[in-house]
Amino acid sequence: MAYVISGACISCGACAGECPVGAISEGDGKYEINPDTCVDCGSCAGGCPVGAISQG
Ligand code: SF4
Ligand code: SF4
Repeated sequence: MAYVISGACISCGACAGECPVGAISEGDGKYEINPDTCVDCGSCAGGCPVGAISQG
C-alpha cells in the first residue's frame, strides 16, 4: 500500500521536496500522494511537522 496524507495536513509543502519520485502534489486543501507513483520509501513521513503521513 502507498503512503497516504490525512486531513491533518497543513499544506506546508515539506514532503513534496522529499519524494524521490515526485509522487506528492498540492491538492484541494491538503497535499496528496499519487498511489500509482509512490514507491513506499517512507522518506516523506518523517519530515511532516504534524505527522499527517502514514502507510495506508
Ligand atoms: Fe514519495 Fe516515498 Fe513518500 Fe511514497 S513514501 S510519497 S515515494 S517519499
Ligand atoms: Fe502536509 Fe505534512 Fe506534507 Fe506539510 S509535510 S504538506 S503538513 S503532509
